[in-house]
Amino acid sequence: MRIGTKLVLGGNISDDNTGTLSTPIYHTSTFDQKKIDGDIKYDYARSGNPTREALENLINNLEEGYRGFAFSSGIAAVSSVLSIFHSNDHILITQDVYGGTHRLASRFFTRYDVNFEFVDPCDYDNIEKSIKDNTKAIYIETPSNPLLKITDIRRIVKIAKENNLLVIVDNTFMSPYLQRPLELGADIVIHSATKFLNGHSDVIAGLVVVKDKDLANEIYFIQNGCGAVLGPQDCWLLIRGIKTLKVRLDYQQKNAALLVDWLSKHEKVETVYYPGLIDHPGREVHLSQADGPGAVLSFKTKDIETATRFMNQIKHAAVAVSLGGVETIVSYPVTMSHAAIPKDEREKLGITDNLIRVSVGLEDIEDLIEDFNSAL
Ligand SMILES: *Cc1c(COP(=O)(O)O)cnc(C)c1O
Repeated sequence: MRIGTKLVLGGNISDDNTGTLSTPIYHTSTFDQKKIDGDIKYDYARSGNPTREALENLINNLEEGYRGFAFSSGIAAVSSVLSIFHSNDHILITQDVYGGTHRLASRFFTRYDVNFEFVDPCDYDNIEKSIKDNTKAIYIETPSNPLLKITDIRRIVKIAKENNLLVIVDNTFMSPYLQRPLELGADIVIHSATKFLNGHSDVIAGLVVVKDKDLANEIYFIQNGCGAVLGPQDCWLLIRGIKTLKVRLDYQQKNAALLVDWLSKHEKVETVYYPGLIDHPGREVHLSQADGPGAVLSFKTKDIETATRFMNQIKHAAVAVSLGGVETIVSYPVTMSHAAIPKDEREKLGITDNLIRVSVGLEDIEDLIEDFNSAL
């Protein structure tokens, strides 16, 4: 099956009693073992639930991996993956990772002496030079947030393989419809399924896919042992959301391209960041590893007053953290997603007071442009 077909059909499991088309929601905590002839597949719903398994098989199938796992949030997926490391392990992680991942790496896993070193995602020589005897993995996010910087996944994989390291990719911004890191040689893929995969701003969920059996055993040990599993109702919502991923993203990308084009010509806009732009420095690499530029962009206004006025005046678009929903969401990284980073560090990363991030939704583009125009 091609990916569009997999998205629609891949999450359906039938039920021999009824022939149901939609996957049943198995709301149960446990299973009566005396009712089963032969091998017992499910014994307790933390360890396994059929609705969750349908979702886990679906994401595994989409990412072309060995096994998938569903967690109670994207950050539960991240923390579960990072829990495979031990004290004194060293991990290279790109400096503009998601804020919650940054917090885990800099303030939580340090309690257990797992050492994270933040590196520039585009400085491959430095990444190579930073590898030590106890380095175990390279963790990346591409495109990055909020400036849409691109990391060459194949190049990271090459460096990692030469040094016997794992490559972990947070693929939230692209989804498996647009980018499949395991096919490029990565070992573990993570999603905040809260974003594009679910797509309707109504579920918090995380997914992980690994490429082989040993990693699957390690992640399963943590999923079951630490217990941050996704409940069956949310699994079902996610299976349903995933069915329309392709049509949503195709349309959102079209809207994003039109908005980018319009913003680029606006007199109050200084710069637009979007991997689909001809002059985006990562464009070529991005299009060699992904099937489209996605539906998140950011832009800088010519002065700070315009940015703050825009955030106050925008009407149709929601002012919120999060992204990937059917509705357009604008955010102001300085006071929202990146507020925890000290100002001088933030500015070094390019996250300035005139920066606005946009996750483009499914609205009529004319309405969005009119709204943006009056807010600017
Ligand atoms: C939102 C997000 C996360 C965290 O996911 P939650 O579902 O909010 O826990 C992790 N990585 C990226 C890139 C994200 O955008």
